[in-house]
Amino acid sequence: MRITRAGREFKACCPFHKEKTPSFTINDAKGFYYCFGCGAKGDVLNFVMKHDNLDFRPAVELLAAEAGMAVPQDAPRDIVREKKQKNLYDLMEDAAQWFTVQLHDPRHGDVLEYVRRVSWIAKRWRSSALVSRRIITMP
Ligand SMILES: [Zn+2]
Repeated sequence: MRITRAGREFKACCPFHKEKTPSFTINDAKGFYYCFGCGAKGDVLNFVMKHDNLDFRPAVELLAAEAGMAVPQDAPRDIVREKKQKNLYDLMEDAAQWFTVQLHDPRHGDVLEYVRRVSWIAKRWRSSALVSRRIITMP
């Protein structure tokens, strides 16, 4: 995935639809992406979930692992226990908030810094290309 700077943003060909002229923009400062071609948008977590077809937690764990840190195992379960009476939507919202708080915790500053670096897309893109190649060459 070739990323070029365009003013305050970065541009690339969208990984979510076929195109020859880049309409996929990354706002590094605000930490989100938007595609003018297909309307795909979100933050780094959303990108990894969509790009790698992962659920929320595995996506967080993958990002954390790439930044060299572990996601606490018990905290989301505590949330589940607490919010058992709430519906699934509220639960997802709480979990999302929990992860957001964790990401912005100064103790986890390295993750946020990693997340903010634009190289994340190139990295995700490269590793998924490696994975698909590995699948193809598997006996
Ligand atoms: Zn697109």
